[in-house]
Amino acid sequence: MNEAYDGAGRTYDFYRRVYGRRSVDDHALRLDASVHYGDGFNNAHWNGRQMIYGDGDGKYFRRFTTVLDVIAHELTHGVSQYSAGFAFSGQSGALAEHFSDVFGVLTKQYWLRQTAARADWLVGAGLFTDRVNGDAIRSMKAPGTAYDDPILGADPQPAHMRGYVRASGDDRGVHINCGIPNHAFYLAAASLGGRGKSPDGSGIARSRASSGRARSSAIAPMPRGARPESCSAPAARRRMRCAKRGTASA
Ligand SMILES: [Zn+2]
Repeated sequence: MNEAYDGAGRTYDFYRRVYGRRSVDDHALRLDASVHYGDGFNNAHWNGRQMIYGDGDGKYFRRFTTVLDVIAHELTHGVSQYSAGFAFSGQSGALAEHFSDVFGVLTKQYWLRQTAARADWLVGAGLFTDRVNGDAIRSMKAPGTAYDDPILGADPQPAHMRGYVRASGDDRGVHINCGIPNHAFYLAAASLGGRGKSPDGSGIARSRASSGRARSSAIAPMPRGARPESCSAPAARRRMRCAKRGTASA
């Protein structure tokens, strides 16, 4: 419970300090969460109204509240619900996954004060138990390399549109093809370099970055025009689900 509370708070603070956004709807929506959901539930998701966290089966997955970028990923589905309103299927669904991955890792990088060059750009690092041969559930730096395991299989993500996967499952490949824009984002951030504001809100973090030269694109302010007011459609219609091949998450 403490992990879910802290993770939601850190995500809230990241959005508030860096983008000026007040909670997922920009109108100070209270962030509710249910923890210990189900029995060894291997997932975490935003159900359109609140967060749901499973404890993981302990065999392949650890507790989902232990990983900040997973919490921020799921809460960003709430942000998308109130802003972009992506249909959660095919390419638009892959974009929803992409934006959640981006703001998930940026939240982590912000609190770890990492530069674009030093960050691992992994989504869900630490979720797998030691028996899984893998570092994370996705890699933005090198899509398709996050895991390769006898039970879970190999990471199926492409890094380029020429590898686009026309899947019928996984809501037509939303957790697969998000590797394409994820990698593009990584390349842009790595090219521009640097990092963003320090967690204490004092501006650019200490070190050479204090020259102001190295402010990261990774947390560049969201254009005002890209933040429409909250939608009025029923939450259930815009529900963002996060299931991956029935076992993995986010
Ligand atoms: Zn997701």
